[in-house]
Amino acid sequence: MKKLILFFNILLFSSALFSQTPKKYALVLHGGAGVMSEKSMTPEIQSAYIAVLNRALFVGDSVLSAGGTSMDAVVNTIRVMEDSPLFNAGKGAVFTHDGTVELDASVMDGKTLGAGAVAGITDVRNPIMLARTVMEKSEHVFLTGKGASQFAVEQGFKLVPNSYFQTEKRYQQLQELLKKEREAGINDKHGTVGCVALDHLGNIAAGTSTGGMTNKKYGRIGDAPVIGAGTYANNSTGGFSCTGHGEYYIRLGFSRDISAMMEYKQLDVQKACQAEIEKLTKLGGTGGVIGLDKAGNVAMEFNTSGMFRGYIKSNGEKQIAIFK
Ligand code: ASP
Repeated sequence: MKKLILFFNILLFSSALFSQTPKKYALVLHGGAGVMSEKSMTPEIQSAYIAVLNRALFVGDSVLSAGGTSMDAVVNTIRVMEDSPLFNAGKGAVFTHDGTVELDASVMDGKTLGAGAVAGITDVRNPIMLARTVMEKSEHVFLTGKGASQFAVEQGFKLVPNSYFQTEKRYQQLQELLKKEREAGINDKHGTVGCVALDHLGNIAAGTSTGGMTNKKYGRIGDAPVIGAGTYANNSTGGFSCTGHGEYYIRLGFSRDISAMMEYKQLDVQKACQAEIEKLTKLGGTGGVIGLDKAGNVAMEFNTSGMFRGYIKSNGEKQIAIFK
């Protein structure tokens, strides 16, 4: 009898312990890599960026701590940065040569290897949501331009005019900021946003959203919407989102190559990201990558002087940084 009581006590104690165990999760984000100098970037500009990064981390953390999925966390985190005029994604995205805005985005689900991507988007406020809808509601992975808009309408998205991304007030704010940034030595060609998350079920999701590169022509598409280049996720290795000179990332098959190094060479997430950045440097490209593995280990690697970045974990660990 005594043994039985002891057994039930142990059972009760361990289930109480279990229910109090915080759910294990992690989220890492970036807001673009580029030439940034600490000396010349005013404290006001720094705190403006940090405030948005903080808000984005908070939103992602809220989803994950409430037991939400990594995909919900990634999309909601990226939306915060798409809606901010500070980053080169959604509102505030860079201009093409023709003076319009064309947006690219993608998401990938590490559990199913499901993926969705859109490119050359001129009229959907949050391209990251459209990318997710392509993954979930279409039989395709990658839609572009007019067809992507048509799909958006069919899926109930309200289209916005291209001027949404360029409203006068925001445009002036952005121009002022960009001017300050230019004076501060920030390369305004960059500012792509991305996020990778691991949820309490062990599922990894990754997403990336961008306006591409300033002055782009001929319907140019970068790496951000290319699965395996700018975005990749696989529960058995990790998830990755990139920022930088997209042409190099496409040529390297950048994020898929990181996953392959983890899978075949058993490199840890940080070593694999570092090794890929070395390949990028050798090829003459610049940029950065964020990644995390199934244990929640985080990597934030880049070969530029700065990358807007941050991460948060279920154990309370948190970091936001801009410079090297
Ligand atoms: N990777 C993006 C592109 O090439 C730009 C960037 O991250 O700055 O379109």
